Amino acid sequence: MAEWNDDWESEPVAVAPSPSVPATNTRQYRGRTFRGRGSRGGSYNDTNWRERGNNSGGDFRRNNDRDNRRNYQQEDSGNKKVIYVPSMKIGRIIGKGGSKIRDLQFESDTRIKIGDTSGNEADITLTGSDQAIARAEQLINDLVEDFRPAPKETTGGNENSGRSAEFFKTNDEGVQVIDWEKLNAFHNDAQQNRWANLPAVVKDFYQEDPTVAAMTPAEVTRWRLASNDIQVKRTFDDKPGLKPIPNPVLTFEQAFQHYPEILSEIYKQGFKQPSPIQSQAWPILLRGEDMIGIAQTGTGKTLAFLLPALIHIEGQVTPREEREGPTVLIMAPTRELALQIDKEVSKYQYKNIKSVCLYGGGDRREQIKVVSKGVDIVIATPGRLNDLVLGRHLNIINFSYIVLDEADRMLDMGFEPQIRKSLFDVRPDRQTIMTSATWPPGVRRLAESYMKDPIQVNVGSLDLAAVHTVTQKILFVEEAEKEAALWDFLQNMDPNDKVIIFCGKKATATHITTELCLKGVACQSIHGDRDQIDREAALEDMVDGTVNILVATDVASRGIDIKDLTHVINLDFPRHIEEYVHRVGRTGRAGKTGISLTFVSRNDWNNARDLIKILDEANQEIPEELEQMATRFEAMKLRREKEGGGRGGRGGRGGRGGRGRDRW
Ligand code: AMP
Repeated sequence: MAEWNDDWESEPVAVAPSPSVPATNTRQYRGRTFRGRGSRGGSYNDTNWRERGNNSGGDFRRNNDRDNRRNYQQEDSGNKKVIYVPSMKIGRIIGKGGSKIRDLQFESDTRIKIGDTSGNEADITLTGSDQAIARAEQLINDLVEDFRPAPKETTGGNENSGRSAEFFKTNDEGVQVIDWEKLNAFHNDAQQNRWANLPAVVKDFYQEDPTVAAMTPAEVTRWRLASNDIQVKRTFDDKPGLKPIPNPVLTFEQAFQHYPEILSEIYKQGFKQPSPIQSQAWPILLRGEDMIGIAQTGTGKTLAFLLPALIHIEGQVTPREEREGPTVLIMAPTRELALQIDKEVSKYQYKNIKSVCLYGGGDRREQIKVVSKGVDIVIATPGRLNDLVLGRHLNIINFSYIVLDEADRMLDMGFEPQIRKSLFDVRPDRQTIMTSATWPPGVRRLAESYMKDPIQVNVGSLDLAAVHTVTQKILFVEEAEKEAALWDFLQNMDPNDKVIIFCGKKATATHITTELCLKGVACQSIHGDRDQIDREAALEDMVDGTVNILVATDVASRGIDIKDLTHVINLDFPRHIEEYVHRVGRTGRAGKTGISLTFVSRNDWNNARDLIKILDEANQEIPEELEQMATRFEAMKLRREKEGGGRGGRGGRGGRGGRGRDRW
């Protein structure tokens, strides 16, 4: 497979500044470089030179040690250049614990040394090949970008270090600004040219099995009703000329008989039959249509989009080894979900298709290494994806099968700008798939912008629905009683029970974990304050049974797949009712049953009505106390509204134990 960028591939060589290599001493403001105060560069070089000499135990020119000499000869081969940036921006270049400067050195293959930062400007010495230095300059420019451009006359004329001057214009106040119109037009033209040179995306791989083709509309309707009341339709207008919705496949063979290697991978998993979403999604996706899957967690949605993706990758015109960059992109909201998809992907071996999981908090350098070796599937969280695309480590030119997994969650987490940015550069004739647990206006907007005549598959109702394989129990407690009630439950646990305890805050999760440890109860925890590596280890411990109790915040409420989880305990009621559904859906997965136990205190009265709806939808018992709670909250709201907007602000606090408490 062709590589996108091999700049970074060789290990960065630390190059000792040498007196024999003259320093190009330049000043730089936002992409402009100009010659300036040689003395600063000179004094820096001297210091640096001495440092290197000392490190090697003396003046290396007189060192006769062969190995050392070889080292220094290698180091001597670099050029160096001093650039200046505002001292106040130096923190951006160094990064937390030096992480950014390490990344910059790695990405540019230069040695970067920060000099004197005591004045308004700090000097930075870049050492490496000319090309590497130019790259480092550009990366540093990007980091200090919001620095105003220096006035034209002091910038040393045409010494422009990368940004083309033609995209700047002088505005009415005589200030140089970016000419966005010109830049956008240029970008659009370049993009159209790039896309025009690509072979068309091959999308249709579907050969309908005769038995499937022979299903009557009544049979299809009956099957859909019996399969979680699955509903299928075109999301937007059913325009003339669009193909009818395909019939569902009822067996794995009906979907993949022409792909025996895929069939044998499915058989290895021991699944009995396709899940409802798979039955309906496979014909749609194999036919190359865009699809929106509104599906609860644990419905088999990952496999629904994954197996057609494998066929799509192999079926493109350009052979995989000649294709620039990967073919399939799966975007997921959290690293946990991304890792879980990656795990699912790695279960299915087909034509040596390779995947990589890119997520913030993971080893960036290692991720880049894997990408550069050539992968077919990228599973990524939006932030890290953009980071690597911007750093030109990931070539997105050939992405032709895009999945936005848990789109509602991505929007909740504020990823819309990153999603839009990523999709902006992906070829428009791609196939796009979106999954979502809910169908809020934001998700609908995304679908309108980025999908072409999508078919929507709803598993269960479009309203919030919890998995029906979970018994949902409610326990009414005072806040102060929660811990004792939890302890009571844990002491009565069966040795085979596996429990997630959801807490509202990281501090609560830490407190509960500590208390359990002090009581000698083995447990693990996942929350935002834990390092990625610890979070992964915690999950692993739960999955392999090292521990049976996981204390978590909502970081774990979606997508986490612990097959034999028997109980979900909501120690704190979640802030959004959607999270309740996702938490509950951690158990009762893959055909198993589960129990959720939710502690409800008077603080949660504002959620009572939504909770009743969910319990009702799943045919669960609705406690009388919950009904009363909901009624009291509604009465309070009505009263507040009547009293006028002035006190509206206290309504919420009342719900948290203020005025509302008196009426509880
Ligand atoms: P998902 O909804 O993608 O998170 O899948 C939940 C779990 O269901 C995963 O562990 C899958 O391996 C499993 N699974 C996927 N398809 C099937 C199937 N047809 N039958 C039984 N389990 C399945």
